[in-house]
Amino acid sequence: MLFRTHIAFAVFVYILAFKTGIIHHSFLSLMLILVSAIIPDMDAVNSFTGRRLPAIGRFLAHRGIFHSLLLPIVAVTLISTLSVELGLVFFLGYTSHLLLDSLTPSGVRLFYPLKFRIKGRLATGSLQDKLIFWLFVALNCVGVAL
Ligand SMILES: [Zn+2]
Repeated sequence: MLFRTHIAFAVFVYILAFKTGIIHHSFLSLMLILVSAIIPDMDAVNSFTGRRLPAIGRFLAHRGIFHSLLLPIVAVTLISTLSVELGLVFFLGYTSHLLLDSLTPSGVRLFYPLKFRIKGRLATGSLQDKLIFWLFVALNCVGVAL
């Protein structure tokens, strides 16, 4: 999925989480969910985050360990020692990325290093990707207004 689609969906998950009382609204939580939603693409040298940290993409395969549950589980465990809620926010952001990428033909290997891959048919950058982005932008506007 496109970078902007991941951001729009992460904002949607954030709004949903704080509107339902799962998390409290804070600037730190909002920033954390946005950052955690783009971390997985650090393994892609041509992605927004991968271009900022190209060393990671040079050594790791795209849609490998960074697109699995292994890293968020470790990160959430560490973050939760400071704040359980921030750990939850990180988990929500990271897994929102994995959920969207699981809809693409490349899919994700959630249980890395197992080869099993969850995948779909929505191509990154396709019309459907762009429509999903605008759908979540619209839902976010409605969600903020409610
Ligand atoms: Zn990705």
